[in-house]
Amino acid sequence: MPVIIFFIAIWYLSLFSQTFFHHRYASHGAFKMSKGWERFFFVFTYITQGSHYMSPRAYAIMHRLHHAHTDTEDDPHSPNFSSNIFSMMLRTRRIYTDIFKNRIPVDEKYTKNLPEWQSFDRWGNSTLSRGIWLAAYILFFAFYATSPWQYLLLPIIAAMGAFHGAIINWFAHKFGYKNFILKNTSENLFSVDILMLGESYHNNHHKRPSAINFGVRWHELDPVYPVILLLDKLHVIQIQKVATVPLPE
Ligand SMILES: [Zn+2]
Ligand SMILES: [Zn+2]
Repeated sequence: MPVIIFFIAIWYLSLFSQTFFHHRYASHGAFKMSKGWERFFFVFTYITQGSHYMSPRAYAIMHRLHHAHTDTEDDPHSPNFSSNIFSMMLRTRRIYTDIFKNRIPVDEKYTKNLPEWQSFDRWGNSTLSRGIWLAAYILFFAFYATSPWQYLLLPIIAAMGAFHGAIINWFAHKFGYKNFILKNTSENLFSVDILMLGESYHNNHHKRPSAINFGVRWHELDPVYPVILLLDKLHVIQIQKVATVPLPE
């Protein structure tokens, strides 16, 4: 049981960091925050993502490229150009690392208003940091696993951010329903999205990338939307009326 609770906790905490900090804040500028709070969320993200910590800066650049080049060969993760979900994950990983290490040229229009904390990002992405977290997870499993099958969850926890990304980037560009007819394959994967914290309303999202509520229809509950409203009320963040990071055409 502790292993299952641990898995579910990491699922939601890691995903919250990804959708709140990497996606809605870093990539799309749906809200602003002070440098101090930004650093708080860097640390929060590091703790919740552990072995699969992703640089908000590299993630945001890669994600902006996805919006600009959806479904084309320049899309960092398109099901059209990978034979299966795992090869798409590996391709995404490769592009993420190239961006993180500045190995590929990125047009200036994709690098505006990014959260930067280079030394912290370097540590979070280091083999040593990932190894320490992994060792901690293995230790946790060694103490608390009650059945051998539970060890199957270990690799998913270790690379959970990649799994979260792939669920949307693969399935929400293949299956679901559309609220908007767009020039891309994005669909809303689930009609009620508790599992992916609103991320699965991907058709809505491609239509309005900087919206603070990913849901549009009455049943499309975005669990992160009330959290954003609350954090705005508490002056932790400031919701932007107009998108501060217009996506390049
Ligand atoms: Zn997409
Ligand atoms: Zn997006």
